Amino acid sequence: MSKYRHLFFDLDHTLWDYDTNAAEALTELHQKHGIESRSGITAEQLIQTFLEVNDILWDDFNLSRINRDDIRSRRFPMIYEILSASLNDIPLNIEVEYVELAPTKRTTFPFAHEVLGHLAEQHQLHLITNGFDDIQSTKLESSDLTNYFDVIVTSETAGFRKPEAEIFEFALNKAGADKAECLMIGDSLVADIGGARNFGIDQVFFNPNEKPHSQEVTYEIKGLKELVELL
Ligand SMILES: [Mg+2]
Repeated sequence: MSKYRHLFFDLDHTLWDYDTNAAEALTELHQKHGIESRSGITAEQLIQTFLEVNDILWDDFNLSRINRDDIRSRRFPMIYEILSASLNDIPLNIEVEYVELAPTKRTTFPFAHEVLGHLAEQHQLHLITNGFDDIQSTKLESSDLTNYFDVIVTSETAGFRKPEAEIFEFALNKAGADKAECLMIGDSLVADIGGARNFGIDQVFFNPNEKPHSQEVTYEIKGLKELVELL
């Protein structure tokens, strides 16, 4: 057994397959609102541009430049602007519908359940996420992930967001864990890896697309299954 008794996971893009789930929700909304006939935007364009815009906005959110309402009010207008479509053609409630629909999607990364089930036998598993309470709990329930975790900390509950040290401090206190026995597993070099490293705990960079980088990480994996060998 490894020295890491407490494993802290990120949720979006690490366990819950954000891109696949977002694409599924957007495909349904695209069809429901007849977006292609109204604006000429294909489902593929909508999905791809959404994911690009969303990454930019979430990076800004993680750096405390914008808040949750900014993400929601800017997302679809930015997509339409980039695709040179009229903002007047944005379906009235699409943002609200998206926020309700996407978290009900249940796709997780390959082997998420098997790996978490296995790791839970010898470790305490926790979650630290920059998402929001209501949304993250819906995602966890939809994808049957809730029961693996002891402590679930959102940026909303903690009052701080990754990479801020305070959210890690908050989570470790709740878990009753010492830094030396903790490991943070996540896909964001800034929020998860940089945050954990600055706070003083070891990290696993989940890098499924093998994106090049020059950061110092304790471990790097491209599939969740590798955690079983590591731990
Ligand atoms: Mg993430």
